[in-house]
Amino acid sequence: MQLSKIGEFGLIKKLRAKCKNIPPEILAGIGDDAAAIKQGNIKILITTDMMIEGIHFDPSFTTFYQLGHKFLAVNISDIFAMGGKPKYFFTSIGIPKNYKSEDIDELYSGIFKIAGKFGVAIAGGDTCTSKKGLILSGTLIGSADRIITRAGAKAGDGIFVTSTLGDSAMGLMLLKSQKSEVRSQKFKNKNRNLKFKTRNSKLETLNSRSVLPLIKKHLTPEPVPLRNTSKVSSMIDISDGLLIDLSHICDESRVGAVIYKDKVPVSGELVNTAKALKADPLNFALKGGEDYALLFTASPDIKTTAFKIGEIVKSGRFIIDENGRKRKFKPEGYEHFKRK
Ligand code: ADP
Ligand code: MG
Repeated sequence: MQLSKIGEFGLIKKLRAKCKNIPPEILAGIGDDAAAIKQGNIKILITTDMMIEGIHFDPSFTTFYQLGHKFLAVNISDIFAMGGKPKYFFTSIGIPKNYKSEDIDELYSGIFKIAGKFGVAIAGGDTCTSKKGLILSGTLIGSADRIITRAGAKAGDGIFVTSTLGDSAMGLMLLKSQKSEVRSQKFKNKNRNLKFKTRNSKLETLNSRSVLPLIKKHLTPEPVPLRNTSKVSSMIDISDGLLIDLSHICDESRVGAVIYKDKVPVSGELVNTAKALKADPLNFALKGGEDYALLFTASPDIKTTAFKIGEIVKSGRFIIDENGRKRKFKPEGYEHFKRK
């Protein structure tokens, strides 16, 4: 069977079925943002994520500093998605022979910056050569008093997201379309003086105000934990896109969902840029990945600053558009093996 047929999620489902005899101390295993393991009174969280050159990042428009930042940030986001606190990070790297040690210094300065911000210690890793491209594999250990999985959503719960969506996907599209212009800034700017040159006159007028924040969100996402999780029934971070990640909650919780298109929050920067490009910002917000916002369900009386975008129902997955029309949604977004 071709992997492109079953996709990343079909493959994980097959692998999950093979992993039997799960001991009782594994509170959450394959199928969540992180594994949760009980050791005495302590609940440990463990998550692992890879970043591969050419798949997850393009060094022609990503500095090593930004890459280091994102490498740890995406792992932190998975710990936050379980309601946890990140603690110890293991960094395994496969490096092509032609890379310089300064490149790796830059990578680690990005890692250390965000590690310092979130109180994470680097506790180990592995180093080897790679035949082609830089390979990063990070494992982050955390802990939580109350574990929140993807499996607790109940009919009647509200569906919430913690921030605007779609910025990162638009940022990536802009970077890809302007590849050569950004290339020359490699190493020089870190994050501080990020510049964006464009030959698209429509975008030029938006440059500093709208375009840069979108690019920044893509290159250096900043995960934000949910402070009060007492009424939260399920949670996931949005790494592959709202529709895919909400589908994961529906699958694991065995429920359905209804979301309202006009309630999905989008930033002014995304709206302005999409307008200039004659694109639909909601398309980026629904199907674009890597926002690393949290998507959670909770009893509707929860007091929260998060945006309510819909409700959990017994079955079916629906989106209601701005004219009140209801249609089924599919888990469209980013899935490995399914894209070229
Ligand atoms: P996330 O996007 O939050 O990082 P993934 O979609 O990568 O989550 O993974 C979903 C679940 O599948 C996780 O529990 C992860 O540990 C598990 N998983 C992914 N790949 C494998 C694999 N090759 N073997 C076992 N479990 C896997
Ligand atoms: Mg996740």
